[in-house]
Amino acid sequence: MDQKDIYDTIIIGSGPAGYTAGIYTSRGNLKTLLLAGDVPGGQLMITTDVENYPGFKKGITGPDLMLQMREQAIRFNTEIIDASVTHVNFKKSPLEIIADGTTYYSKTCVIATGASAQWLGIESETRLMGKGISGCATCDGFFFKEKNIVVVGGGDSAMEESLFLTKFAKSIKILVRRDKLRASSIMQERAKNHPKISFLWNTKVKEFIGKERLEGVEIVNNKTGKEDTIIAQGAFIAIGHKPNTEIFKEHIELDERGYIKRILNTQTSAKGVFAAGDVHDHRYRQAITAAGYGCEAAIDAMKYLEEKNGD
Ligand code: NDP
Repeated sequence: MDQKDIYDTIIIGSGPAGYTAGIYTSRGNLKTLLLAGDVPGGQLMITTDVENYPGFKKGITGPDLMLQMREQAIRFNTEIIDASVTHVNFKKSPLEIIADGTTYYSKTCVIATGASAQWLGIESETRLMGKGISGCATCDGFFFKEKNIVVVGGGDSAMEESLFLTKFAKSIKILVRRDKLRASSIMQERAKNHPKISFLWNTKVKEFIGKERLEGVEIVNNKTGKEDTIIAQGAFIAIGHKPNTEIFKEHIELDERGYIKRILNTQTSAKGVFAAGDVHDHRYRQAITAAGYGCEAAIDAMKYLEEKNGD
């Protein structure tokens, strides 16, 4: 194989972590390829206004922010291909990364494939996404001042999202599909004791209603079959996240929930392979933290190559 065919780094993923890693490695003069996936941009592509990303005093839409990051990476010569990675082989040197049938070779790799929020999977949810339905209270809670909100889920995320939303919302109803919560007892107590929060047990969403924006939620009781309609201008789905690590599970260590384990800084269990963003971080899950992790992973990849070249 001709050396010129080998990248210094290949970045997998095109959310804030991936593009930031690209900006740093290409500015650092590394020959960088970013494999962006078939639908580039990550979770921010389904977000409307982003007001908490520093530098945009009037806010910016999620898709605009991602486009700016992409163009910034291209400006420094990050090569971007909108292809999805299907296989990797991190035991080989150079590393092998296969996307849409083509094998790419690289000395290092930054995995920034993110995590996918779990959704209920009903048509009205997709249609009203970003129009009253959200998966992130920290991102969107501010838009729901004095509104009536439902939160779907019974885990720590649902409790945390609900408690956060009490700062803005008029009322919050948590829809729980069973007659008990999965959340830790301390989070349960906090939510149960909050005057703005109430619970609807054994309850599932039948349909979200509203033409342009969410206006209400049709619910059904799992035990009795009784149906009801709640007036709500906001719905937060908090039924868990799934890290996008399926293709890596044979090659690097994952934790019990499937998130990538970082061994030292951003380094994974495979040599020369680094992880950035929600693919290893189930705690913060913010665009700004993902971007920060992308920067860290890029610096670690550069240092790894410097040390290797110094051998
Ligand atoms: P969890 O998997 O813990 O909980 C998911 C919740 O959503 C469960 O109550 C589950 O119900 C419910 N659910 C799943 N699918 C559906 C569905 N289709 N319809 C309705 N309800 C559904 O996920 P979390 O995101 O809450 O938490 C993930 C991890 O992160 C946990 O380990 C948690 O402890 C941790 N975490 C910790 C926080 C903290 O300590 N501050 C904050 C946030 C998360 P069921 O119980 O019936 O399965």
